[in-house]
Amino acid sequence: MSRRSSGRGRRTKDTLAPLPKGGLRVVPLGGLGEIGRNMTVFEHEGRLMIVDCGVLFPEEHQPGVDVILPDFTWIRDRLDKIDAIVLTHGHEDHIGGVPYLLRERADIPVVGSRLTLAFLEAKLKEHRITPKTVEVKEGDRRTLGAFDCEFIAVNHSIPDGLAVAIRTEAGLVLHTGDFKMDQFPLDGRVTDLRAFARLGEEGVDLFLSDSTNAEVPGFTISEGELSPAIDTVFRTTKGRVIVSSFASHVHRIQQVLDTAHEHGRKVAFVGRSMVRNMGIASELGYLNIPQGLVVDLRKLENLPADKIALICTGSQGEPLAALSRMANRDHPIEVTEGDTVLLASSLIPGNENAIYRVINELTRWGANVVHKGNAKVHVSGHASAGELSYCYNIIKPRNVLPVHGEWRHLRANADIAIRTGVDPRNALIAEDGSVIDLVRGKVSITGKVSAGMVYVDGGRVGGATEETLHIRRTLAEEGVLTIVCIVDPDSGKLTEDPDYMVHGLATDTIDFTDATSAIQQALFKASKDGVDDLDQIEELVRKATSTWVHRKHRRSPLIIPVIVDA
Ligand SMILES: [Zn+2]
Repeated sequence: MSRRSSGRGRRTKDTLAPLPKGGLRVVPLGGLGEIGRNMTVFEHEGRLMIVDCGVLFPEEHQPGVDVILPDFTWIRDRLDKIDAIVLTHGHEDHIGGVPYLLRERADIPVVGSRLTLAFLEAKLKEHRITPKTVEVKEGDRRTLGAFDCEFIAVNHSIPDGLAVAIRTEAGLVLHTGDFKMDQFPLDGRVTDLRAFARLGEEGVDLFLSDSTNAEVPGFTISEGELSPAIDTVFRTTKGRVIVSSFASHVHRIQQVLDTAHEHGRKVAFVGRSMVRNMGIASELGYLNIPQGLVVDLRKLENLPADKIALICTGSQGEPLAALSRMANRDHPIEVTEGDTVLLASSLIPGNENAIYRVINELTRWGANVVHKGNAKVHVSGHASAGELSYCYNIIKPRNVLPVHGEWRHLRANADIAIRTGVDPRNALIAEDGSVIDLVRGKVSITGKVSAGMVYVDGGRVGGATEETLHIRRTLAEEGVLTIVCIVDPDSGKLTEDPDYMVHGLATDTIDFTDATSAIQQALFKASKDGVDDLDQIEELVRKATSTWVHRKHRRSPLIIPVIVDA
C-alpha cells in the first residue's frame, strides 16, 4: 500500500488559482493513492459539499495508531461554508472520519440512506454527538445548498449504497461511491444502470468511479454463488460452525443465517460491533432473522455442538476481536476438534500475517478452517474491469477521475476509460490533495492542497506525528540507550564515567569504554567552543554516542542523553 508522509506537498489554499465563476472545484482529500479514508470535497460559488469522510487503518509500520484521518486543513477555516456531507454507504473507510469532522462543526447536515445513517448514528453515540441527518433513498433529488444532488442505487458489500449525481452550473458530475454490478443480489437491489444511462444521455461532464478492482479482469461474481460452499460447511461439520465476517456485511450474514436455519442450528452473534450492527440491520428490515433462530450466547451452551453456529468479528485477524481471542484461548468459546471456522471475508492487504496466524492457531486447536484460499466463500464488493467498461460505455463521460485505489488501480481504471473512447487527456490520474477544476466542460489539475496523514492516537487527533512513529519504530527495532553524564560546570568535564542504561539492545555486555572517550572528546570540544546550552551539549553527546554505537555494533538505538551538573 503506498503511503506518503504528512509534510510533503504542504501548501495552503492561498497559492491556488481562483476558481473561475461557474466552475466546480473537486479536491480528493483521501482515497487516491491508497485504499481507505475516502473523502472528496466539491466547491462551487464559494460553497462546499463533501462526499464521504472515512478512515484508513494503520499498518505495522504505524505502531500505536488507532486510525488515520484525512487532513481537514484545507477546509478548516471554511467549515461554515459546508452545505452537506453526503455518505455513499456505511463502511468505515467512508464514514469513520465523520465524528472527527463533526467535532469541528457539529451541525453539518449529514445526508445518506437509512442504513448508512443508522450505522453512523450508532458510531456517533460513542462519540456523544447527535448529528443533523437528512435521510435519502435511491431516486431522490435534493438541493443541498449550492449542489443539486440525485441519488442512485448501487450494489456493494453492504446494503443501501448510493451513487450521487451532482448538478451545478459547471455541469453534471457522477460519483459512484463503492459499487459492483451483481445482477442477482440477495436483496434484489441492483446498481441502477438505467439511471446511469439516463445521466449519460443528459451528458456526464465528470465521472468519478471506484477503482479498487480495476485490475481484476472480467466480472465480479454474484453473492449468491457462495451458497454451495457455505452449505457444504454446515452440512459436513460435526461440531460447531463459527463464521467470521465483516460486521457490516449484512447480506453475507443473511446467507449464513438462512443456511444455519435450514440445517437446524441456533445462532449467536459474538463481538460488540457484530451484535450492534445486526441489531440495527434487523430492526430496520435489512436483515431477516427467522423466529427463534438467534439466541443469546449463554443459551447455546446447553445445546449439542452440531446444533450451534456462531457469527463473530475478527475476520481480518484484529487482535482484540472475538476470533483472534478464540485462537489465543482468551475467549469463553473454546474451539476444538470437529468445529469448523469459516472466514467469509476478503483478506485485506497488510492483514495477511495476522490472519494466517489466526488460521494456524485455530487449526492447532483442531478446527477445520475454511477460507477464500481453499473454498469459494468470498466475493468482492467492487466492480471488476468488465463492469467498469460497461459503465463507461453506458455513461460516455466527457472526463473521468478514477477514485478509491492505489496508483496501480487508478491507472488501470483510467486505461479502461480510455479504451472505451474517453480522450486520454480527459482521464485524470490525481492524488490526495490534487485540485481539479471543471470549467466550461474541461477538467484540469490546477494545484495542490495539504492532504497528509492525520493520526488518531489514544483518541487524540494529531497525537502522533511522523516523528512519533519514527521513534516508536526505532524503539521496536533498535532499543534504547540512556546515558547519564555528570559534568563539572566549570571545566565542562565528566566527573565520573557516564551511566549507560540499555533496553532492547541485542547485548548487555557492551564495553562502553570507547563510548566514554568519545563523549569526553565531545564535551571537551563543546567547552573549548564555549557551548553552554544544555540542549546543544546533549545533542553533541547523542551524536558522539550514536556514531560510536553504529560503527562498533551496527545498531541505531534511540539515544537519550541526560546531562547533570556535578
Ligand atoms: Zn465500501
